[in-house]
Amino acid sequence: MYLADQTWPDLGDYVAEESVAVVPLGSTEQHGPHLPLATDHLIAEGLAREAAARAGFLCTPTVNVGVSPHHKQFHGTMWVDPPEFRDYVESFSRNLTYHGVDRIVYVNAHGGNMQHLREVGRRLREDRAAFAVEWMWDESIPDLVDDLFERNGPHGGPKETAMIMHLAPELVREDRLEEARDGGVPVFEDADPYRYGARNFYDAIDNTENGVLGDQTDATPEKGEQLFEAATEQLVRLLEFVDESRFEDLMAKPHVDPQPGSRR
Ligand SMILES: [Zn+2]
Repeated sequence: MYLADQTWPDLGDYVAEESVAVVPLGSTEQHGPHLPLATDHLIAEGLAREAAARAGFLCTPTVNVGVSPHHKQFHGTMWVDPPEFRDYVESFSRNLTYHGVDRIVYVNAHGGNMQHLREVGRRLREDRAAFAVEWMWDESIPDLVDDLFERNGPHGGPKETAMIMHLAPELVREDRLEEARDGGVPVFEDADPYRYGARNFYDAIDNTENGVLGDQTDATPEKGEQLFEAATEQLVRLLEFVDESRFEDLMAKPHVDPQPGSRR
């Protein structure tokens, strides 16, 4: 059920019976010459809405702009800084708890958001406000991602290209797939981003001239559909797990005995 399409009376039964919310988050940032800036938020929203519909849970509107300052040199990239992003996500998550939500799954499709979503989840759990967990689509199906593509890439590569071919084919510039591969870095290791144990870069452009990594010509809509189905299945299972778990079991464990100060 997509929250923003409902009227408020329609939501009465849901909030009386259920307490799970699915929140899609992505970015609006460069994804090379062949993919739209919307890539990450299209993927997150596609998976979140499909899994929420299949499992019978509530899906909220998508957070379209994330933590992307490392793509700033490319036209059109939008971002917010990490502290503002964390505060914003924490604030609307607490707003959801006011409506009775106490389990939140952040369906994420942008690497730059990950650590911040985990931090927000930790804060909410610390206060016992909600159990909120970050889920990154490609990390839920690592073996399939490996099997499908010979030369993957962490950004704008074949896995994201295939997903957009499946979700929004009209937005893929198919005539630029070779250009994307040849103008970027087809083999991630060749970018040689680490030196003497340090990560000697801050921005995507430090490693790749056109902003992408991997071999985009390996992407097909069929592979995109396979990725989408497999990731949706994982997400449905996660939603069922957080729904079935007792709230107490999702919260932080108590301090070991003896309790501090108990013999004072
Ligand atoms: Zn992306």
